[in-house]
Amino acid sequence: TRVRPSSKRCAVIGGSGFLGRHLVEKLLDRGYSVSVFDIRQSYELPGVTFYQGDLCDKQALLAALKDVSLVFHCASPSPASDDRALFERVNIQGTQSVIQACIESGVQRLVLTSSASVVFEGTDIKNGREDLPYAKKPIDYYTKTKIEQEKLVLKACDKQKGFLTVAIRPHGIFGPRDPQLVPILVDTARRGKMKFIIGDGTNLVDFTFVENVVHGHILAAERLRADSPICGKPYHITNDEPIRF
Ligand code: NAD
Repeated sequence: TRVRPSSKRCAVIGGSGFLGRHLVEKLLDRGYSVSVFDIRQSYELPGVTFYQGDLCDKQALLAALKDVSLVFHCASPSPASDDRALFERVNIQGTQSVIQACIESGVQRLVLTSSASVVFEGTDIKNGREDLPYAKKPIDYYTKTKIEQEKLVLKACDKQKGFLTVAIRPHGIFGPRDPQLVPILVDTARRGKMKFIIGDGTNLVDFTFVENVVHGHILAAERLRADSPICGKPYHITNDEPIRF
């Protein structure tokens, strides 16, 4: 019989990024040992082994997934880029290679960081539930490929094979070391470019504190068992209240 990897070793693909690093730190606190797989290494931490590589390269992934039972996939090109070929390569082909590598390595659980924008059609959504359909006209290539990525991961969930998947859909994430959201807002305001109102000033936007997003990922991972209703499902994640913007 095949020996299953130990349950306390996990891998974070995209672990050098903003969300990924917060996730790594919380996993260490909870007694996991962590392998980080990323195209870049942005820090060092005791208990973390870094593997530098592109997730489209299955061989490179296989090296990082050795003895790993749980994988978080939170790597993506920046949504700010509008590089269609890059999004398709990393978010679609790359995710296929992540799934293949997980199955070949005997990984039992895969948690994907998806995005709430997969259901956004350009009009307001309040208290949107997970049974909303995927956007028919995604707002950009990033979102289009996040939809395909989520479908691939959820479809790969297979209780017979013992490979279980779940997706977490945050919207905007804020918190320490946020490279994008708040710094860009502050910079825009400093340059005097926030002196106008879009709509009537009562628009709501959903931002979630990074530790809550991390908490959601870890709860999903720890509840992901063959008898659990969360298998193969997406979950929106948010703070209690949306922020008036
Ligand atoms: P980030 O850019 O800080 O981190 C992404 C990481 O992925 C980076 O370290 C990058 O080097 C790595 N990466 C990119 N391409 C790669 C490749 N080909 N191979 C290996 N690694 C690669 O972004 P983030 O804000 O931490 O986002 C993490 C995840 O959360 C993404 O999937 C993103 O779509 C999702 N998300 C983010 C937000 C947000 O507001 N930040 C909102 C919704 C969803």
